[in-house]
Amino acid sequence: MNQPVRVAITGAAGQIGYQLCFRIAAGDMLGAHQPVILQLLEIQPAMDMLKGVAMELQDAAFPLLHDVIATDEPDRAFAGADYALLVGAKPRGPGMERADLLAENGKIFGPQGRSLNRFASRDVKVLVVGNPANTNALIAQAAAPDLNPRNFTAMTRLDHNRAIAQLADKTEYHSTSISRMVIWGNHSATQYPDISHCEVAGQPATSLVEREWFKDEFIPKVQQRGAEIIKARGASSAASAASAAIDHIRSWAYDTPDNDWVSMAVPADGSYGIDPGVIFAFPCVCSGGDYEIVQGLDIDNFSRQKISETESELRSERDAVSPLL
Ligand code: NDP
Repeated sequence: MNQPVRVAITGAAGQIGYQLCFRIAAGDMLGAHQPVILQLLEIQPAMDMLKGVAMELQDAAFPLLHDVIATDEPDRAFAGADYALLVGAKPRGPGMERADLLAENGKIFGPQGRSLNRFASRDVKVLVVGNPANTNALIAQAAAPDLNPRNFTAMTRLDHNRAIAQLADKTEYHSTSISRMVIWGNHSATQYPDISHCEVAGQPATSLVEREWFKDEFIPKVQQRGAEIIKARGASSAASAASAAIDHIRSWAYDTPDNDWVSMAVPADGSYGIDPGVIFAFPCVCSGGDYEIVQGLDIDNFSRQKISETESELRSERDAVSPLL
């Protein structure tokens, strides 16, 4: 058995956080031989609820769970953290503009970045789930100059998983037959789910589906899936979002399979001409606890236009929060 690692979760009493706590304690994220200490952060008004979550975790007597810290102090939640899942965020209120939402979240992710900078493990792997996730990750990264900027990522794995599920449904193959899916860009309605490089049971996906289906049904379906779930369920997706967060960290920590990749929003480094200085979803391969952006994929004109649209949105989000960077 390994030494316990410290996993910080913010917004831990919320819908996604509640799922995350139990799945991580059960070993779904880091495996059956990796004990964990959960360091759960909430805002003051949610501390009673968080206390209840901690009591339930205790009652589950998970063999891998070594301790639970429930706190409203970021410095305590991030102390020694090896992994930090930043889930809690300010939801968009009625009539709230995107710029206001970004500014409000800056007040959360700036201080959290500073706290990570001071107290987390020097190798902390940070995953931002709280929306607008890419730009929140950028704000946290900017506030943590002593940490490796590459260790700040945002979640597009749910979009990636949703895209695989839609293609599996269409082609009548199981999701495990599908590889090399890509989500490019922002975790927002401008994201570009791209099947150009995808394989289904070893065949090019583009040879199995019509171009019209890809452009007119698949792309909007993946982009709007969150809204579709809210309509059906009366609440945001939560279990699937938590599951995707677990997938993201597991891939990062324990490698991607040969001949496949995952979509991770990571600091742009000039790959595919994307402006360095935004957190952008790329196809990534992971190995030895690190990731690399997959290089050299052919980008056709249609894809280039879609990638540019989502890049523009991220640049304008970055401009809106420039005082925080
Ligand atoms: P959820 O747990 O449902 O969602 C949390 C965040 O994840 C939201 O920003 C949500 O965005 C985002 N998200 C990202 N991807 C997805 C996805 N695919 N599906 C659904 N959500 C996604 O929210 P709750 O309101 O239940 O819980 C939030 C908790 O955070 C509360 O308990 C609150 O007290 C806490 N909080 C903690 C803070 C802190 O620790 N400092 C700060 C602020 C809040 P979207 O809004 O777009 O759905």
